[in-house]
Amino acid sequence: MRQAEQSLSGKHWGVSSNVKQAISTTAARFSGFMQHDAQEFLCQCLDQLKDDTERANKRALNSPLDETPGTDDDKMKLRSRYPHDCPIVKNFEFEVMHSITCKQCREVVTKAEQFYDLSLDMPRRSHSNPIGSIQTALEQFFREEGIEYACGECDCKQAIVTHKFTKLPRVIIIHLKRYKFDA
Ligand SMILES: [Zn+2]
Repeated sequence: MRQAEQSLSGKHWGVSSNVKQAISTTAARFSGFMQHDAQEFLCQCLDQLKDDTERANKRALNSPLDETPGTDDDKMKLRSRYPHDCPIVKNFEFEVMHSITCKQCREVVTKAEQFYDLSLDMPRRSHSNPIGSIQTALEQFFREEGIEYACGECDCKQAIVTHKFTKLPRVIIIHLKRYKFDA
C-alpha cells in the first residue's frame, strides 16, 4: 500500500491527481487511497462534469458584459459560445420508459427515467446460450416481469412491467454486475 501511494504521488500521477483532487472536493470519500467501486467513481465524475457545465453556462450568461475582459467584439464572440452543450448529456444520456400494466383492468402507468450508464446483470450461460453476450444481458434487462403493484383503478395487486429505450445515447456505458444479491 505504501509503495502504491508513493508511486501514485510520483510524476506520472500529475493529470490523474488533478482529476482525483477535483472529485474529492465534492465527494470526500474519494480523497484517500482506499479502494473504491470504479462505477461509483465514474458516476461521480459524470455528475460533477454535468454540474460544472451547467454552472459555467449560468455564470457566463449572467455576468454583465462590461465585466467581461476584451473588446466589445471579443465579448460578443465569447458570449455566443454559450451555452455549451453538456458533453455528458450529449454523449451518454439516455431515457428508459417503464410501463406498468395492471393484469386485471389493463390500466397503464408509465414513468420515464434518465441514465448515463446502464447496470446489467452478467449474462447467464445455459445450454441454449453457451456464450453469455451483452445482447443476452440486454434482453434479460428488457424482458417483461410480473410484479406486485396496487392498481389505482381496480383492486388488483398484480401487474406486468416492461422497459424500453425512448431516447438513445451516442455512446452507451454498460456496467456489468458480477454479483447478484438474494433479497
Ligand atoms: Zn387495475
